[in-house]
Amino acid sequence: MRLFPFCAVACLTLSAMAVAESKSPAVKTPPTVTVALDATEAPRKILQAKLNIPAKPGPLTLYYPKWIPGEHEPSGPIQNLTGLHFQANGHELTWRRDLLDAWTFHVDVPEGAASVDVTLDYLFPATFEGGYSSGSSATEKMAVISWNQVLLYPAGWISDELKYVASVRLPKNWKFASPLPVASQSGAEVRFAAASLTTLVDSPVLTGEYMRMEPTGENPHHELDLAADSEAALDGPPDFFEHQRNLVTQAQKLFGSYHYPNYHFLYSLSDHVAHFGLEHHASDDSRVDERGIVDPTKRKLFAGLLPHEFVHSWNGKFRRPADLATPDYQKPMQTDLLWVYEGLTSYLGDLLSARSAIRTPDEARDNLALIAAELEYRPGRSWRNLQDTADAVPALQDSPAAWQSWRRGVDYYDEDVLNWLWVDVLLRQQTGGKKSMDDFCHAFHGGASGSAEVKTYTFDEIVSTLNTLAPYDWRKFWTERLTNHGPGAPLAGLEGSGWKLVLNDTPSALTSAREELRDTIDSRFSLGLDLLADGSIVDTVEGLPAAKSGIGPGMKVLAVNGRKFSKIILRDALKAAKSNSDPLELLVENAEYYRTFKIDYHGGEKFPHLEREDSKPDMLSEIYAAK
Ligand SMILES: [Zn+2]
Repeated sequence: MRLFPFCAVACLTLSAMAVAESKSPAVKTPPTVTVALDATEAPRKILQAKLNIPAKPGPLTLYYPKWIPGEHEPSGPIQNLTGLHFQANGHELTWRRDLLDAWTFHVDVPEGAASVDVTLDYLFPATFEGGYSSGSSATEKMAVISWNQVLLYPAGWISDELKYVASVRLPKNWKFASPLPVASQSGAEVRFAAASLTTLVDSPVLTGEYMRMEPTGENPHHELDLAADSEAALDGPPDFFEHQRNLVTQAQKLFGSYHYPNYHFLYSLSDHVAHFGLEHHASDDSRVDERGIVDPTKRKLFAGLLPHEFVHSWNGKFRRPADLATPDYQKPMQTDLLWVYEGLTSYLGDLLSARSAIRTPDEARDNLALIAAELEYRPGRSWRNLQDTADAVPALQDSPAAWQSWRRGVDYYDEDVLNWLWVDVLLRQQTGGKKSMDDFCHAFHGGASGSAEVKTYTFDEIVSTLNTLAPYDWRKFWTERLTNHGPGAPLAGLEGSGWKLVLNDTPSALTSAREELRDTIDSRFSLGLDLLADGSIVDTVEGLPAAKSGIGPGMKVLAVNGRKFSKIILRDALKAAKSNSDPLELLVENAEYYRTFKIDYHGGEKFPHLEREDSKPDMLSEIYAAK
């Protein structure tokens, strides 16, 4: 166990050499695998694949991808791999799963055989399930195909070396989009150009009956590819598409180079696929509600998603922590540098959402205020430092929402928005405004444009790059940021940028949108209650009034001051309590028992906002301004 990545353990070149040494000397050329995918039954939630894998007689070990890039955990959906058969020269082969690793299969290749034919089925979840690419991915009208779902690969090679020739047969009249170049197409049959296994797994296919492809930039070509469960859901307003074009322009200015031949924003609009964003080198797999671009409230809520995933092409895919750049999909990933991989991406994604006008200045500040308040009221910081939230990801990423404020979740996203803002402010202060995070991005993410390469880094390179811009004890700065226990959020950067966090009784438009769309009541910063609209308690904030009175996650509020619970009744009671001394009475159900809790709280509702600090220059507006 280690806290800091002072030395890298695996760069791609070293790993390749290690694997090459273990190869049989008789096999020199990496095999070319063909995978023919039948996706015509995608609406029935089943894909069928036929693979041909060159092999020589003797024991053969095959892997189903386990550690999926960007998911940061061993999430390869092995439970959905079914219908598995192996054949050689037309004869069925027996197979056995590895006793220590369920993603590994062993077969014996008979004498005289030069390859193994594999057939397999992949089952999309039949009912709604979350969870990245293993979550719900197909509906009656559309599907997202991730190639890691439908292939095996032979042991002894790194994923860069293995060549795959992939093809797919789509449902009748379905269109498709993918960053993978097309070699030929005949009706519903699409044959892609040969690619390395790395590139194939990094290149999902978005397909559906209702699709819209909008160019968002040229030289190189950028495209927003939408697939939806209805034609009407594709009809976003003109400024939505204009802002996406701005995003491409502003990102090119921020980084000064690009590391993809062309880029496809693959955007799924459906209430029946899992909702998340997953980065790829030349595309992203982003999924929101069916009305995610036509409904203005939903557009507001999902505003940060595409900028975040786009930034990942530079920060995460091109520049990647050395111990996340594994040689294949079986080697475990180490996640200690996610405060750069995800934290810096979150900071730059929010910055670009403001610069591209995807968020108005008010919306950008409301988003930052919410982040600052959530971390300010995060008691789990007292026992668990920020570094540990990154280190523990492979095991803890899917923790439940209950007790989140005490357990802490993936705080390296949001807390590092505050920390990287602090770095931006320090760079500007130390250099009299001559250097900023824009210069960091040019230096750290720059280089020759065009190809999708991986350049690994360590903690040391973050420190040394910052030092070339402005001499400062950046190692001490980041060590302190990653190991401190508060109290409270790291707000020095925000305050240095000319703004401060304030709480008042008026929810921001962003808070209202979150409450409306998630059907929740946000009393986290007053009573310390995160509630569903029916009174179910998702989480309590340790140390705040509700938790101190004895209320915990999983209970349900039934009545407030003797009257049936509703959002309005709770809001009115909090308002009235400001001007009287009576305790608030909550009738609460806990596993079939009822109890009344008295809460002596008179502070009213509290919602986060940013307020201008006139004594300081307004650096935040400068950071968020279009370049
Ligand atoms: Zn991310």
